[in-house]
Amino acid sequence: MEARFGLDGGAMFGIIPRPLWERTNPADAQNRIDMACRCLLVEYPDRNVLVDCGIGSKWSQKERGIYNINAQDTALTEALNARGLSPADIDDVILTHLHFDHVGGASEFAGEGDAQRVRATFANARHWVQRRNWAWANGPSARDGGSYRPIDFTFFETQADAPPLELVDGIAEIMPGIEVLPMHGHTFGMQVLKITTAEHTFAYVADLIPTTSHMRDPYVMGYDIQPLVTVEEKRGLLYEASRNDWILIFGHDPSTSFARVELDKRGRPSAVPLDIDF
Ligand SMILES: [Zn+2]
Repeated sequence: MEARFGLDGGAMFGIIPRPLWERTNPADAQNRIDMACRCLLVEYPDRNVLVDCGIGSKWSQKERGIYNINAQDTALTEALNARGLSPADIDDVILTHLHFDHVGGASEFAGEGDAQRVRATFANARHWVQRRNWAWANGPSARDGGSYRPIDFTFFETQADAPPLELVDGIAEIMPGIEVLPMHGHTFGMQVLKITTAEHTFAYVADLIPTTSHMRDPYVMGYDIQPLVTVEEKRGLLYEASRNDWILIFGHDPSTSFARVELDKRGRPSAVPLDIDF
């Protein structure tokens, strides 16, 4: 399930010159590249788990213009409906991190009274996030503060009827077959998911590798607060993924949801898109 938005192509590709990245990710007149906000639904026999919530609907017209947010406010609900589910049927929401394009959809404007009052979209769900990311989101640096919008997450503490927030400390198997692996290059305490089923092992790589164009070492987003840490974390994950035939799931790639990792003769990774539907 996905919605779309746009971010500055230069910020998305860090030090990589535009002539290299625009071959695969063409920019619009405002230098924005097309991005997906791709959430993941993991269906167990007895529970429904949602991974990330997309950018959500709490945006002014001006902000919608900046981020090219179009008619997608109901995209996530519609995608759930298409699978016979409603937001009330979600039992767990795993948030990779609290950047607005991952947690924005976890709440919506309540509509009555205070115009800024929000309510949880998934009222019956436990919400999981790394404790370290929760702490950082509540006190980010001046450089990355713009990626954390307090309206997206402070309600967990300020509203008595907010659904439960589960703060995770480090690596953990938070439910059968779902392990969270903390990463600290993009932001402190982001968690990548390793999901093991009977047939496959998947890695939902979140903003460690936002698109298939970010596989190689130097392709690190300008947004990352510790870019050299991202390089090491990405190498480690792609080494494991290529050795063990993991399937990567991309949150922001405009066209590819699933891919395997292939290494060339010099050991440089690339993504081989998989045409699978679950
Ligand atoms: Zn992010």
